[in-house]
Amino acid sequence: MNCTNHPEVEAQGMCAYCGKPFCSDCLVEVKGRMYCKQDLGNVLDEAKQNSNNTPTINITNTNDNVNTNTNVIGGMYGPRKSKTVALILCILGFFGLAGIHRMYVGKVGSGFLHLITCGLCFVGTVIDLISILSGGFRDSYGQPLA
Ligand SMILES: [Zn+2]
Ligand SMILES: [Zn+2]
Repeated sequence: MNCTNHPEVEAQGMCAYCGKPFCSDCLVEVKGRMYCKQDLGNVLDEAKQNSNNTPTINITNTNDNVNTNTNVIGGMYGPRKSKTVALILCILGFFGLAGIHRMYVGKVGSGFLHLITCGLCFVGTVIDLISILSGGFRDSYGQPLA
């Protein structure tokens, strides 16, 4: 299969727009897809139109969903636990009192485990500290800390 523009040159790929084979000189890569130079103008125009319309709507929808879910969970399981308190209690793990932050958020079982193992030899304490700081730490109901 040879290039549509250069019959003597072997094609390196198909244009994702018109589907014809082209050589590497004729193809241009846009966001991981190959297009021939003739269609590149059309592709860029369409990409502009898409980025003006669709993504804005998507982002709004996602935010609404997240907010709604958080409110529902917060209402069902009471006020969310404080990130600052959890952080301070977690740091106590470095002084031999590990797992108190887990008991604080309702994870009594794993908190007790941390307490008797010194925070899984500090490894668990370090992991929890990072996850509290990054906002990934959840209470026993799966709620993020406030
Ligand atoms: Zn094309
Ligand atoms: Zn060519």
